Amino acid sequence: MTKWVYTFDEVSEAEALVGDWENVRGLLGGKGANLADMTRLGVPVPPGFTITTVACNAYTDAGGVVPDGMWDQVSTALTSVEEKTGKTFGDPKNPLLLSCRSGAKFSMPGMMDTVLDIGLNHEVAAELAVSSGDPHFAYDSYRRLIQMFGSVVLGNPDEPYEEILEEFREKTGVATDAELSTDSLKEIVERFLAITPRFPSDPVEQLKLAVEAVFKSWSGKRAVDYRNASNIPHDLGTAVNVQTMVFGNLGEGCLTGVAMSRNGATGENHIEGDYLFNAQGEDVVAGIRATIPVAQMATDMPHAYEELQAISDQLENHYRDMQDMEFTVENKKLWLLQTRDGKRTAQAAVRIAVELADEGLISKEEAVMRVTPDQIDFFLHPQFSIESRKEAKAAGNLLAEGLNVSPGAAVGKVAFDADTAVAWADAGEKVMLVRPETKPDDVHGMLAAEGIVTSRGGRTSHAALVARQFGKPAVVGIAELDIDLEGRSMAVGERVIAEGEYVSIEGTSGEVFVGQLPTVIPDINDKWLSKLLGWADEFRRLRVLANADYPVDALRALEYGAQGIGLCRTEHMFFEAERLPTVQKMILSDTTEERQKYLDILRPMQREDFRGLFEAMSGLPVIIRMIDPPLHEFLPAHEELEDELKDLRKDRSVWQDAAVKEVEKVIARVDDLHEENPMLGFRGVRLGILMPEIPRMQARAIIEAACDAKENGFDPKPEIMIPVSIHVKEIERVKAIIVKAAEEIMERRGITVDYQVGTMVETPRAALTAGPLAREAEFFSFGTNDLTQTTFAISRDDAEKSFLVKYVEEGILPVNPFQTLDRLGVGGLIKIAVDGGRTQRPGMEIGMWGEHGGDPESVALCHELGLDYVSCSPFRVPVARLAAAHAAINDAG
Ligand code: ADP
Ligand code: MG
Ligand code: MG
Repeated sequence: MTKWVYTFDEVSEAEALVGDWENVRGLLGGKGANLADMTRLGVPVPPGFTITTVACNAYTDAGGVVPDGMWDQVSTALTSVEEKTGKTFGDPKNPLLLSCRSGAKFSMPGMMDTVLDIGLNHEVAAELAVSSGDPHFAYDSYRRLIQMFGSVVLGNPDEPYEEILEEFREKTGVATDAELSTDSLKEIVERFLAITPRFPSDPVEQLKLAVEAVFKSWSGKRAVDYRNASNIPHDLGTAVNVQTMVFGNLGEGCLTGVAMSRNGATGENHIEGDYLFNAQGEDVVAGIRATIPVAQMATDMPHAYEELQAISDQLENHYRDMQDMEFTVENKKLWLLQTRDGKRTAQAAVRIAVELADEGLISKEEAVMRVTPDQIDFFLHPQFSIESRKEAKAAGNLLAEGLNVSPGAAVGKVAFDADTAVAWADAGEKVMLVRPETKPDDVHGMLAAEGIVTSRGGRTSHAALVARQFGKPAVVGIAELDIDLEGRSMAVGERVIAEGEYVSIEGTSGEVFVGQLPTVIPDINDKWLSKLLGWADEFRRLRVLANADYPVDALRALEYGAQGIGLCRTEHMFFEAERLPTVQKMILSDTTEERQKYLDILRPMQREDFRGLFEAMSGLPVIIRMIDPPLHEFLPAHEELEDELKDLRKDRSVWQDAAVKEVEKVIARVDDLHEENPMLGFRGVRLGILMPEIPRMQARAIIEAACDAKENGFDPKPEIMIPVSIHVKEIERVKAIIVKAAEEIMERRGITVDYQVGTMVETPRAALTAGPLAREAEFFSFGTNDLTQTTFAISRDDAEKSFLVKYVEEGILPVNPFQTLDRLGVGGLIKIAVDGGRTQRPGMEIGMWGEHGGDPESVALCHELGLDYVSCSPFRVPVARLAAAHAAINDAG
């Protein structure tokens, strides 16, 4: 016979049957499993029993029929509860009252609300009024039961009940329900019964209907929608917990409350919570009466408080995590009604993980694993302070909550279309783009906006994908948000916001506030974060380098924990205003000698930049990429030059003639360099093959800078990287130029510098022929942005504007491959290249750089593929450090 029902003291039996704790949670639900577990630990829990999720599933599968034997088992369990409590269910002289509580494996909105005080009817209430000596309590409980039963079990609207309560409050001049007189309560009971004709007076009937209502709520629309949205399987089922009532509303010496064992916002290690005297159930969270902070209990009810503190510690020790508890004190006796791992902010998650490890409750590995890379992200985006959010909520300025699809806080004036957003942003305003949903036509507006809000769409909607892509905070899918595009306004219920008014959004939590909330940047030097990342560093195998072009970036990268520079793009130095004219003249030169003249001007400038990098990164690798982009990028556009020409021709002086000729020459060169497809054109190593004086100049600048740094007492480790190679002969040629230049300089300076020459692998051919490339290349670096473009044969800039988002939205591609490294395709090529390279040159250093370097899933793949390092933007370094640690810990099993 299947066991459908477990009393709270049968948890060991359940565990023996299903194996491990996860399965117990699956069988009894999270709430039921922990209630039973607390009972086993000796924590005071009102006796009760749990009807299993298996029973719920059997009920659902049978089309709403309770499985055979279940009611018998319920009745046996009930008898055992009666024995423990010395009370009898339905006996007016000594009634046992029960609560009926739903509880699935994962806490889930949409499930049936709790029904309290089951077992009351006219007769029982009347007797209880006498036996408890507190008629107010008896009738307060009774009216609560009818109301909850009516709305929760029978599905009646709640308003008529609330209206009756309000009528009585007004009539008798009291502010809260707790103050209603017993006579009022008796009248209210009659009024409630009149609007709840199906309320059964038989306690057994009450219990049965409540239990079945919980079963049914599993298949209710709200629950199904929620599971669909959050990927919770539909076959888990919910358990039902039936538990002896304890009363926080039995007059003096009674209270009910909620508490967290640590502060869920900051992580501070002390109990936080609220309670109410003479209250029951959801009164505390409903916010009708002002609650009392739990610290006050130390004075109000010291014994119960001490016990709560002790139990809180005990539960933390047992569950090895911060706990969120529900409790009730009946006549000064403390009862625990629920415990579970508490929800927390990112900041609190970090502090709590570190402190739990420091306290020896969890290992450092576990602490590292308990924080997600997304939570580290929190420290890298502006946020609203906890106080300002609290204040805004207290002032009623929380407009709505939606899906938290892209982290960070943003403030802006509401604009209802992309063009308006762009126009306002151009005028220097901060804008919030609000749309029912977004489409590719809206992207320019999304880019101009501080943040994005939509009323429709889910986690993979266009808005969500694009927002994450561009790092814009976003809240989407706010169902209750009514957008009136014609009327240029939006509304949530009565609250109307016109276009141009300010709203503030918190993309980490999904909140939308009315007005402008002040933002703060969370402290990346947060003591606990530093400690946690330090531990992450102990576990990871992958090194984390940063992309940095200037010494200031290098210093920031170091501060964030980078172990070197994985990519210095030398061309960025060329784009600087005072250098660009020289760079242009160099490109426009007709002869090698002329070009050399301008290169000689550029060399000392580059040398200074490099020296700064080497000194900042003393002892750490600095990987410098030779000039990469097509040369036309350094020249003005053809149209621009034509305009200039037109202006010049308006005035025909002799002097102007020379100028005209000059511009014409530039135009000719620009046309000459024009390419239909510059990304696949005359760039990278190809420039160096045709103009060897460029790599020669850059190599000289690098080695001279290294010599300078060395003379200044630093330890430079330059690695010179050749971009876009497709053939070993290219590397052979350019490497020869570099080595010759380096040897000459070291010889002349009498200084030896440890340097390497390697190549980027960013085309399929390079990856497939990595073995031969490694004959010349001393290291590899995968440029995964370009390698993704060349592998997919799609241009990122164009694809993201046109089809790529649709591809992801419709599941043709699982993710945007420019965001998360494509495991099969690009990952496959990387694997081939790593094998090829290391076979030719055992132990060669291989890494990657690209936006993927800051993406946790891609970092994990790089770990798996055996790379030595990932390199990302300095701001992403902390995220990559943690992601690399997670990969290593998962790998170790
Ligand atoms: P939820 O899952 O919504 O938190 P619960 O089942 O925890 O619902 O019940 C909500 C509240 O009802 C609890 O926090 C507690 O205050 C009250 N409650 C539930 N069972 C009992 C009980 N046996 N005695 C007293 N109060 C109870
Ligand atoms: Mg609830
Ligand atoms: Mg609860």
